Amino acid sequence: MQGLRHLVLVLGDQLDLEAAAFDGFDASQDAVWMAEAQEESTHIWSSKQRIALFLSAMRHFAQALQDAGRPLHYHRLDHTDAAAPQDSLGARLQADLARLAPQRVVMTAPGDWRVFQQLKAVVEAAGLTLQVCDDRHFFTTVREFAAHAKGRKSLRLEYFYRELRQRHQVLMDEGEPAGGQWNFDADNRETFGAKGPGAVPPRSSFEPDALTREVIALVNTRFADHPGTLQSFAWPVNRAQALQALEQFVTERLPLFGRYEDALWPGEPWLYHSHLSSALNLKLLNAREVVQAVEAAYRAGHAPLQSAEGFIRQILGWREYVRGIYWTQMPGYLERNALNAQEELPAWFWTGHTDMACLREAITQSLEHGYAHHIQRLMVTGLYALLLGVRPQQVHEWYLSVYVDAVEWVELPNTLGMSQYGDGGLMASKPYVATGKYIQRMGGPCKGCRYDPGLREGDKACPYTTLYWDFLMRHEALLAKNARMALQVKNLGRLSEEQKTAVRQRADAIRRGEVGAGAGAGA
Ligand SMILES: Cc1cc2nc3c(=O)[nH]c(=O)nc-3n(C[C@H](O)[C@H](O)[C@H](O)COP(=O)(O)OP(=O)(O)OC[C@H]3O[C@@H](n4cnc5c(N)ncnc54)[C@H](O)[C@@H]3O)c2cc1C
Ligand code: SF4
Repeated sequence: MQGLRHLVLVLGDQLDLEAAAFDGFDASQDAVWMAEAQEESTHIWSSKQRIALFLSAMRHFAQALQDAGRPLHYHRLDHTDAAAPQDSLGARLQADLARLAPQRVVMTAPGDWRVFQQLKAVVEAAGLTLQVCDDRHFFTTVREFAAHAKGRKSLRLEYFYRELRQRHQVLMDEGEPAGGQWNFDADNRETFGAKGPGAVPPRSSFEPDALTREVIALVNTRFADHPGTLQSFAWPVNRAQALQALEQFVTERLPLFGRYEDALWPGEPWLYHSHLSSALNLKLLNAREVVQAVEAAYRAGHAPLQSAEGFIRQILGWREYVRGIYWTQMPGYLERNALNAQEELPAWFWTGHTDMACLREAITQSLEHGYAHHIQRLMVTGLYALLLGVRPQQVHEWYLSVYVDAVEWVELPNTLGMSQYGDGGLMASKPYVATGKYIQRMGGPCKGCRYDPGLREGDKACPYTTLYWDFLMRHEALLAKNARMALQVKNLGRLSEEQKTAVRQRADAIRRGEVGAGAGAGA
């Protein structure tokens, strides 16, 4: 194209026709640029589900752009050589800037520090201006978060969340929080009891269309050795499907979301969660419309406040908060390791081949669907890695690889900060540590497990329980300084020296891989 004014870059997680980068878009002199680059699936060993979702959603968005009459330069992965040494977004853009010679490059603020640095460097090297627009998908900008954080000794979600509720008038009644309380967290911790959840509504699932089937075939050949499988692929891949998934969640699951937000149950991966994170993170859904739909359901009497508030706290609270943490802390955040954890992630995290029933289930389901709900991520897989003492960077790579909703701005603070305490308390006020009894209480599959969550020592001792006490001993000096850990640390005093030695010995055996590994899925 001659005389190109703006080249608008659209990344795989920016699939929104209304994004700020399109403001003032003029089809007669501007064009859109999108690229599927090998490096985006290989810089970490991305799971098949995650690659397929991104590629399918990108190709559907390319169609939407064409339908909207916006000229598009799109690079397909299958038109490149799989062995191409440097198939990166940067390399592709560099070649296209030389070819298309735009006056300016425009993009919406990206979600990944690495990608942003790469693209910025390429644009600057071409002597061009990169215009970065605020991402209107979010309620806040990173500047606003930085202003909130300035001068505070510690950052806590609660104050930030309350500010946003007020500023955006979400769940507010005449200046007061709806129901007279900001937070119904205490009502979000019920379990299903001995009878279990009964019939849970099926997940919203979308039969792969021709475009998605083509992507699945591509991923199965080109990324055959990547983790996971694609048989169950049913994620929303375009805006219409995402809207349908939102409606179905609000109608069928939201009423019980709050009550069972923290619950586990064997064989039930979906429960009352929304499964909307990937649609949100790809920007197929706008965070505002999701919050509005949930508040409207509460106002209409369709969902109780504990569900609406609990859900909105995740989106308006946590989601915005972790984004602020990521962009104000990068790049140093990626390297933080406050507990000096140096163990390797057990190899069975990539297969699910462990005899620990809760981990086997959470990992197998993650590889099969690219999904696990929050308590599985935080208190099953994350907790195990934390107690074992795995390097946070390895844990981060696993989460970034496996989940369909994994984009670094949201994955990294949740993994390194909230789950692994790698940032020394910036995200979480204390390490989230517990014994196997917690997993049992929340409805985990302990009944069918060869271990006993109540045992700390001996052959049948649950590895979580052993490692929990070992964790307290290893970090006693640090944890003793944390008022919120005082009781847990004090309980260490109940253990005799012999018991402590037995715990340490078994913890060492677990670390050597002599406990926990081995049994295949379904064992
Ligand atoms: C170790 C770890 C890694 C995680 N990695 C990711 C990730 O890569 N991408 C991601 O979107 N979420 C991540 N989370 C947060 C959370 O677990 C997922 O958002 C959630 O499980 C997605 O399922 P859902 O859509 O059914 O969520 P629901 O339970 O239905 O929650 C509703 C929505 O709230 C948002 N949300 C909930 N919790 C969080 C949170 N802690 N931080 C930010 N947003 C939140 C999500 O958009 C989610 O869709 C991670 C959590 C942990 C502990
Ligand atoms: S006994 Fe321990 S390892 Fe087994 S399912 Fe329960 S918590 Fe998990």
